This record gives sequence, C-alpha cells and structure tokens, in this order.
Amino acid sequence: MDIISNLQKIKNEIPKNVLLVAVSKTKPISEIITAYDAGHLHFGENKIQELVFKQEELPKNIKWHMIGHLQRNKVKYIASFIYLIHSVDSLKLLKEIEKQAKINKRKINVLIQVDISKDSTKFGFSFSEIRELMKSNTFKMFEHVSIKGFMGMASYSNDKKLITLQFSNLNNLFEKFKKSHSLNYLSMGMSSDYREAIKCNSNIIRLGSNIFGNRNK
Ligand SMILES: *Cc1c(COP(=O)(O)O)cnc(C)c1O
Repeated sequence: MDIISNLQKIKNEIPKNVLLVAVSKTKPISEIITAYDAGHLHFGENKIQELVFKQEELPKNIKWHMIGHLQRNKVKYIASFIYLIHSVDSLKLLKEIEKQAKINKRKINVLIQVDISKDSTKFGFSFSEIRELMKSNTFKMFEHVSIKGFMGMASYSNDKKLITLQFSNLNNLFEKFKKSHSLNYLSMGMSSDYREAIKCNSNIIRLGSNIFGNRNK
C-alpha cells in the first residue's frame, strides 16, 4: 500500500464532515509532498522544531496542526502560521498563545485537550475543570484566541468498550457547551480507534500510521 491509496481509502470511508489530519511526525518532507501533490492539505506534527522546519520547507498553503504537548516558551515559533493547536492543556499556555497571537496580529484557533483516559502519560484538563472554566466565562476573555472545541486521546487499549466510553464522555461535554461557546470541532481518533471516535461524533481524526506506515521512532 502507498500513501496516496491509503489516503484515498480512508477518505472514501469517513463521512464528508470529518476532517482528516495526516500526522506526518518523524516522516520526511518527500512523503508529505506525495500526500500534498495528491491534494491533501492538513498535516499534524507534535514537535515544534520539526514542525517549524517542515513549514519552512513546504508549500505555504499547507494547514499545520499542532497535536502534541506544547511548552509555553515555544509558542512564539509557530504563532505566525499555525492553523489549529489541538493540545491546549493549561490556562498559562492559553495566555501565552493569546500574547503571541496578538504580536502576530492574528487570531489563533485552538482546541482544549481533555484528559479522557486518565493515563498518567497524557495531558489535559479534567472534566470538572472544563465545566468550571466554561461556566466562569474565562475562555471568553481571550481576544486573539478562538476556542473551537475539544481534543481527547483514548487509552492505549484493545478494549473497544472502554475507548467508546471515553470518547462518548467527551462528546457529552462537547454537546453540553457547543451552543453557548460556539464550539465546532471535536478532535478524537487515531489510526487504531478512529472508527469508534467517529461513532461518538468526532469531526477531526488524526491519523499517522494508517497513512504513512509505522514509525520507527
Ligand atoms: C502520533 C499521534 C497521532 C497519530 O497516531 P497514529 O496511531 O499513528 O495514527 C494522533 N494524535 C496524536 C496526539 C499523536 O501524537
């Protein structure tokens, strides 16, 4: 299987309203070009240095998604071009994004990462923190940041019931606040669990290995 047929197969399978982010982390420029030449524009990376390098090398109409844990002192490197940050996991980070967006005279779109698995290795706000923040209107204070929805990562597990439960909990939170806070995006699902995620209303899936093959690092 090659990159183009992998992409085509997935696009044929998923509903039209679901955005496919091709996760290109660790993969070379040439493989991204292959997908780009086939018409794909949305790519995801999880490391700032790699993201900045690829953004400089590649066509400027690519829409870059930051999907990994983001340190505050690195926001400045991506603030001028980033399309969507999926991984906002603290208010301090949100404040730094606000600051850098203002410097760059743009509005940056973000998703709030929610800790749906409670795995110790994962980041994100808890459900109760989100409920409080939503009710407090804290998120509405930001002028240069637009909060577009939520992102969640399910447990690394073969237990489809558990994964579905975690995704549907996040969908319930999304449904609860989407009208009052004008949320449009629910980013859930990776190569191993995107079908479950889509059943739970996900409209952004982040797939790496299903498109580019396994990563060796
Ligand atoms: C690496 C990564 C993905 C893609 O993982 P695959 O299993 O290769 O599809 C999706 N989301 C995040 C946050 C990632 O870090």
